[in-house]
Amino acid sequence: MIHKAFRYRIYPNQMQQKILAGNFGCVRFVYNFFLTMRKQEYQLNYANVSYSRCSEELTALKRDPEYQWLQEADSTALQSALRDLDDAFRNMFAGRSGYPKYKTKKDHHDSYTSKNNNNSIAVTDKAVKLPKLGLIRSKVSRSIEGRIISASVEYTPSGKYYVSVLCECNAPEKLSGGEAVGMDLGLSDFAVLSDHLTHIPNPEPLAGLLKRLKHEQRLLSRKTKGSHRYEIQRRKVSRLHERIRDFRNDHHQKLSTELVKQYSLIGTEDLNVRQLLSDNRSDDARRISDSGWRSFVSMLEYKAEWYGRRHIKVGRYYPSSQICHDCGYQYPDVKEKRLKIWTCPKCGKVHQRDENASLNIRDEALRIYASA
Ligand SMILES: [Zn+2]
Repeated sequence: MIHKAFRYRIYPNQMQQKILAGNFGCVRFVYNFFLTMRKQEYQLNYANVSYSRCSEELTALKRDPEYQWLQEADSTALQSALRDLDDAFRNMFAGRSGYPKYKTKKDHHDSYTSKNNNNSIAVTDKAVKLPKLGLIRSKVSRSIEGRIISASVEYTPSGKYYVSVLCECNAPEKLSGGEAVGMDLGLSDFAVLSDHLTHIPNPEPLAGLLKRLKHEQRLLSRKTKGSHRYEIQRRKVSRLHERIRDFRNDHHQKLSTELVKQYSLIGTEDLNVRQLLSDNRSDDARRISDSGWRSFVSMLEYKAEWYGRRHIKVGRYYPSSQICHDCGYQYPDVKEKRLKIWTCPKCGKVHQRDENASLNIRDEALRIYASA
């Protein structure tokens, strides 16, 4: 069994918008309330408050006349807010993220997750059914598969509503055949494949959208915060952000499926993007974050598993750009950057940097696979 998410735009009517706003508000309240509690407990007693204790406290809180209004909200959404908070603390303790932050309305972004109990969540041709809300008009582009587990409702900074329905369905049939491929994260290209040294360009409209975003962001920075014009411009910028995200996501989905279907083993670099970004604010780092390499690699990862393929991450410190693929010569300084075109000092072969790197990544991935 695998998990698959189906995302739809939804169009709640005024009444439903009000209920949604109520749910968002209650979820925000619960999250912040227990964040304070956990924070204090930690400061006073160095104690970690468990999820189950928060859950008990929440039940008590809902009985308190002062907080009775919490009963009006989707109760599974409040539970999942506690789970989110628990995850945030786990991530902090594991060193993956900083101290959990309070949720504020000023983020212009709200979401909650609702659990499916006895078909409380359903998807029809033209609507999505959610607890406390009933049927919400929707554009259902592709119907769901399998059993619904939960639904995440999202209100975006540009003022749109989406729902992402998580389903459990049968895994696709495992594939066999196909060769190994190495993939190098490109700067001018999205990526280069070792197979026939194929360059996969960044999708064309993306450059235009990014340019427009930069322009609109500049206009936003000139407006007075809080003014009416600022708010209009903020929405404009948010809309562009969302379009870019959707566009990119679509591109990543299609490409990752294609690759996993074609190749038996895919090697990529294991780039810790977060670290890269904090190490230097160079142009390269910005572009890496731009092309959303990380989200793409995670898609490769789970799809490889669906289809019985191998995805292998080549170590972060593997010097794929420093080694001549033809003769094995390796530059001593790992941090030294190779030029886009370089000549091997030993064998004289002229290399295109990313093409050479993709071949090295493929071979290193095969080596890791063989030695595992
Ligand atoms: Zn060489």
